[in-house]
Amino acid sequence: MSYRLETKCIHGDKCEERKHSFGAVSVPIYQTATFAHPGIGRSTGYDYSRESNPTREELENFVTALECSCDTVACSTGMAALSLCLELFERGSHILCTDDLYGGSVRIFETVGKNKGLEFDYVDTSRRELVEKSIRENTKALYIETPSNPTMKVTDLKAMKEIALKYGLMLIVDNTFLTPYFQNPIVLGADIVIHSGTKFLGGHNDTLAGFVCTANEELKNKIRFLYKTVGCCLSPFDSFLLLRGIKTLGVRVEKQQSNAIKIANWLKEHKKVKNVYYVGLKDHKGYDVNLKQARGFGSMISFEVDSEETAIKILENVKVISYAESLGGVESLITYPMLQTHGDVPESIREELGINNRFLRLSVGIENTEDLIADIENALN
Ligand SMILES: *Cc1c(COP(=O)(O)O)cnc(C)c1O
Repeated sequence: MSYRLETKCIHGDKCEERKHSFGAVSVPIYQTATFAHPGIGRSTGYDYSRESNPTREELENFVTALECSCDTVACSTGMAALSLCLELFERGSHILCTDDLYGGSVRIFETVGKNKGLEFDYVDTSRRELVEKSIRENTKALYIETPSNPTMKVTDLKAMKEIALKYGLMLIVDNTFLTPYFQNPIVLGADIVIHSGTKFLGGHNDTLAGFVCTANEELKNKIRFLYKTVGCCLSPFDSFLLLRGIKTLGVRVEKQQSNAIKIANWLKEHKKVKNVYYVGLKDHKGYDVNLKQARGFGSMISFEVDSEETAIKILENVKVISYAESLGGVESLITYPMLQTHGDVPESIREELGINNRFLRLSVGIENTEDLIADIENALN
């Protein structure tokens, strides 16, 4: 039988197959590089930990169950997952991306990707006609973030799938922001889902990780081959920490979301706040599309304040919230995208997207809602 999400977070897909030694309820950490062979041509199922390891495999099975994918590989970081995917493409391939991506993704595309002879374009993928107009002879893939980072634009994944089918493109979705708890792009037709496991999946701002989830056997085999070849695997101990994090994914993201809804509504009414970008606000441009394809809104809020001075005041005076990069964990974090996540994005592109010196991004944690609101209010005054 197939379990519901909260159950999958605790048990994966296989409650029936509890197979840990001594009945251990949590997965043992197999801290070993290699595995002895029982005889010539025989294997325990594991040979060398770069290729596979029982602790990591348990984690990969959990993420596969949550994303409804065919397979998942666990990588050392989100960027390692992304760079693994770039290995799928031959020199001369063109990849069409959301114009508002995680800054590190733009950096790897524009440097490593371009050096490999790949070509990239960035368009507002929330506008279907723009996507179709930007497809070229050599376009091989669509690379989507929805909601996007940091301006929270929502892309219609079903529409992207239609375009991908029409032009024979691979559909890749970075699902870090909504997590498999709220959105399953593979169910909507994506070929590959990428995660920074460092964020919501790990959930505690203490471990780096990344995932590549594949939708079919052919892609599974290609990615598995590249994975063991380039060696970007997650360590057994970090795999254990990720599994431990995923057990509470459901309760964490529900609480983070309920906090975020209240904070977004409070920010909207504040006289020093000019714009609030949160997918859970009914007047958000992508509200309906998001509801059509996701089960929730997540807990990432961006907002623009009245002046650079106010922005700096908030960053330097918050006490419950930390002024720090990253997102998705139990601790609330606030960032200044202009200087941090999007520091490497060319200024002209940044300004066009609205990422200016008044623009802040808040990752809402699981603290008490009133304490978080009071923290921002105090920092503002
Ligand atoms: C953080 C992040 C990444 C990169 O992941 P790391 O684990 O930091 O390497 C990629 N995509 C998105 C959307 C992210 O937020």
